[in-house]
Amino acid sequence: MRRRLTIVFAALSLAAVALTALGVLLALRFPAEVIALRRVIIVCAAVFFLTAAAGAWLITRLVRPIDPDGDERPDYPELAPLYQRLDEQKSLLRERRGALEDRQNKLNVITENMTEGLLLMDAAGVIILMNKSAASLLGVSAESAVGRHIFAANQDNLLLAAVHMAMSGARDREQVSLGGRRYSAIANPVLVDGAARGVVLMLIDVTERAESEDMRREFSANVSHELKTPITTISGYAEMLAGGMVRAEDVPSLSRKIYSEARRLIALIDDVIRLSNLDEGGPDARLEEVELLSMASAVCERLEEKARDCGVSVELSGEGTPVLGDGLIIDEMIGNLVDNAIKYNRPGGQVWVSVERREGIPVLTVEDNGIGIAPEHMDRIFERFYRVDKSRSKDTGGTGLGLSIVKHGAAFLRAGIEAESVLNKGTKISIIFDGKGGN
Ligand code: ADP
Repeated sequence: MRRRLTIVFAALSLAAVALTALGVLLALRFPAEVIALRRVIIVCAAVFFLTAAAGAWLITRLVRPIDPDGDERPDYPELAPLYQRLDEQKSLLRERRGALEDRQNKLNVITENMTEGLLLMDAAGVIILMNKSAASLLGVSAESAVGRHIFAANQDNLLLAAVHMAMSGARDREQVSLGGRRYSAIANPVLVDGAARGVVLMLIDVTERAESEDMRREFSANVSHELKTPITTISGYAEMLAGGMVRAEDVPSLSRKIYSEARRLIALIDDVIRLSNLDEGGPDARLEEVELLSMASAVCERLEEKARDCGVSVELSGEGTPVLGDGLIIDEMIGNLVDNAIKYNRPGGQVWVSVERREGIPVLTVEDNGIGIAPEHMDRIFERFYRVDKSRSKDTGGTGLGLSIVKHGAAFLRAGIEAESVLNKGTKISIIFDGKGGN
């Protein structure tokens, strides 16, 4: 509108200039004859000039472009209600825009600082939003992934299966491996009127939980297996006895076998219960002052007969050293170490138990000159049911859980463990009561 008016008034101004020029020219050429004509032209020119000036003034006054944010308005009372309404709409829009920006900022802060991966997809699986964690877990850049199908970001079958399930309207959860860690991929459909309009995918790190579940599962399988062997033996022998299939002179030896298997079973069950208790953080444990030397002395006394039977001598040295811990747990730890030092030894062998302070820190050491452990087994001897020589362990009544109990007990007491061994020379294991859980 403004443009058109400007063109019209500019044309009028030009015409006025042209007519004026024509008038001046005629006046110069025909000074006498065209006086009347000259006057008409001059009047026309004046009228055109005035019209152009008025037009220009009108254009600038009335037809001003609308400044969306400006408050300057022509003063027309009839337009006031319209302007008022426009103002209301404008401030409402401004408010809404501010609220939306605010909400978007808050959402960005939350999603970008989440450790969990978060992805938002439309109904076709095209990524709409991907937070920083999701991008780094999937090994892609969020900028390049947004706007592309989830398949372009990751091709893990289970992850895609979860997304597809959510696209069909049902929630799904799968465990996926990303970058060497385990994640729970939870895909939730975004339902509008019962139809899936999008998918929200969360990736939560469950590595530790999955590993401990694996360990528990493996432990249960191992326990069942370990329990089965003595029970099968006991029930077989008992059946033979009950069926009168054993000669009278064989009854005592068979009974001894049943007794020894039953003892093994009890030892195994006791160890499993101890380990379970430690796994649960030692619910019955109490922290009290325990004197290490007298505790070690009691253990040595208890195992004296076993040592004698094995032809091994046990020597205790050190000074009274109090530590803060649970008496029962410390007793079991020392017991397992001394028991192993006797078991994995030779007739004539020696065991040295010492209690000392190293730079003020209480340390209990059990050393032997027994069969020793080859270096390749050293990393695994603290694992549950790990035995270097399975038959020797079983023959000597081992459960494969002794060192595991030592390790878990140390973790409970926040004590460290040092183990060194030389095959055929001997083994030395120390518990360092530094309250730090290792050194
Ligand atoms: P076990 O009940 O079989 O003794 P442990 O958990 O106490 O189970 O020990 C695990 C394995 O470590 C044992 O089977 C044995 O092979 C080895 N081991 C432990 N202590 C010693 C030691 N003092 N000397 C040699 N080998 C040992």
